[in-house]
Amino acid sequence: METDPRKVKRMAAKREDEMEAFCLSLKDCGVSSRNLDAMLRKSLRQVIPQLDCTKCASCCKEAYVVVDTDDIARMAQALGMKRSEFRAEYIGKNEEGDTVFNRRPCPFLRRNLCTQYDSRPECCRQYPQSLAVDCTEKLENLSANYLVCPAVFHALEQLRESLPAVTTRREQKSNRKKTGKP
Ligand code: SF4
Ligand code: SF4
Repeated sequence: METDPRKVKRMAAKREDEMEAFCLSLKDCGVSSRNLDAMLRKSLRQVIPQLDCTKCASCCKEAYVVVDTDDIARMAQALGMKRSEFRAEYIGKNEEGDTVFNRRPCPFLRRNLCTQYDSRPECCRQYPQSLAVDCTEKLENLSANYLVCPAVFHALEQLRESLPAVTTRREQKSNRKKTGKP
């Protein structure tokens, strides 16, 4: 298994379109969302221990960090700031209107390490396993994270291998578009 984050990113970039088609096809692949979640969780459990997140930190650099009021309260306290000060300094909205850190890479990332690890937001604690919860409700998100996270890359590749029948019309259609063949 390739563990170098930069190499995994290059591999993901080359397969981006086909993986996007695969992810969208999961909606009607005949496997229940619950089972797909279980398969993804199992793959992530296998893959994550083989990766060194401190050599990657891609999620902290590229992904929106969604925060809630509990996260803000906890982090403000840890930093000795008022919540209003913390909000003014670090909080904004993304295109979807989610409350997020107002910049990427994350302002708390230093040399690939989290300087606020103990008080970090809940979404940081759950990532990337959070993608294996009701995955069919967020297939575009899953596909986008294929490009961000090497663990998601490998978990999705494993899923694709174990679901060969899921080369559905969407994927075939995408291939036809590329080749121009009917
Ligand atoms: S709070 Fe920490 S774990 Fe979360 S994105 Fe920022 S640096 Fe990464
Ligand atoms: S969770 Fe994924 S994207 Fe984040 S540091 Fe670990 S391997 Fe990289």
